[in-house]
Amino acid sequence: MDTCPTCKKSSKLGWRKATMSPLAPMPCESCDAELSVTWKAYLFSALPASILFLAAYLFLEESSVEQYGAFAVSIVVMVLCQLYLMPIVEVEKKTTAGKS
Ligand SMILES: [Zn+2]
Repeated sequence: MDTCPTCKKSSKLGWRKATMSPLAPMPCESCDAELSVTWKAYLFSALPASILFLAAYLFLEESSVEQYGAFAVSIVVMVLCQLYLMPIVEVEKKTTAGKS
């Protein structure tokens, strides 16, 4: 689930992968490659939890135990989706070659 696309070893990100986003890349523990996720994968993995969260907000009684429970579940779903559904990609190194 956290295999590095560069060195094909475990990036050892583990739970930290759940906090990864296109705006917050993390280095691979095995080869130091800068790893990130695409916006498409990030948004896709956040979608089920977002729907669940919204449904709980709209359809469950406000401030009820059920609603808090559903919010907690949606956070768990979010973390699990990010851990298992989100493919890791290497950050493209921005070369400053440009014009010369
Ligand atoms: Zn690596």
